[in-house]
Amino acid sequence: MIRIDILSVLPELLESPLNHSIVKRAKEKGLAKIVIHNLRDYGKGNYKQTDDYPFGGEAGMVIMIEPVFNLIENLKSERTYDEIIYMSPDGELLDQKRANALSMKGNIMILCGHYKGVDHRIREHLITREISIGDYVLSGGEIPAAVLCDSIVRLIPGAISDETSALSDSFQDNLLAPPVYTRPADFKGWKVPEVLLSGNPKLIHEWKESQSIERTKRLRPDLFEKKGED
Ligand code: SAH
Repeated sequence: MIRIDILSVLPELLESPLNHSIVKRAKEKGLAKIVIHNLRDYGKGNYKQTDDYPFGGEAGMVIMIEPVFNLIENLKSERTYDEIIYMSPDGELLDQKRANALSMKGNIMILCGHYKGVDHRIREHLITREISIGDYVLSGGEIPAAVLCDSIVRLIPGAISDETSALSDSFQDNLLAPPVYTRPADFKGWKVPEVLLSGNPKLIHEWKESQSIERTKRLRPDLFEKKGED
């Protein structure tokens, strides 16, 4: 059972992606618990202020340290956290290897930034890890946090009905997944590869493996070179 606490000023953005499909089922099966916290509940004054102007006169707003500190301290007083992650475009790049490792943790906190980001002292003193989902800038950390959660939760044994399914996904073993087909076997003359209809498990396995290798070499030669390294 993994517990993920997400800290956000816009929790609405997190609801739909974390309440459907595989993540929803994993929660229902008790494999994962995801708790979304509204930083505004910890905001200052009548307006529940969570952001302020940056020192040095730049444009944009910055999430303040106080509400974040109070919320993190509150959560830390209830349990120990393996990682307190800040979603950030300058963090380490999320990949399958990192998702695999995080899926084995017990308690994780994820802080979503917004506007210009968060007061840097949060990153210096409270955060244990910073993760990016790619070299582009989004408006907030909520979508990145949902991406991270989905990539983690689907890897927990039992989250996917066919246990082996997650292992045959792309990037496991640095290989891309082979193509998949379903009925009808012939759609307007566009046919499914014969071998998949052969009923011969050995031939099918060999075909899938050769497709994986061919696709990885052609589409991601960089990955293919890393094969066998991890
Ligand atoms: N000024 C910051 C970007 C702020 S974007 C900079 O240039 O680095 C606002 C928030 O969105 C960030 O605080 C972060 O939490 C989130 N975010 C944006 N792009 C992201 C990415 N590629 N990966 C992870 N989080 C991202």
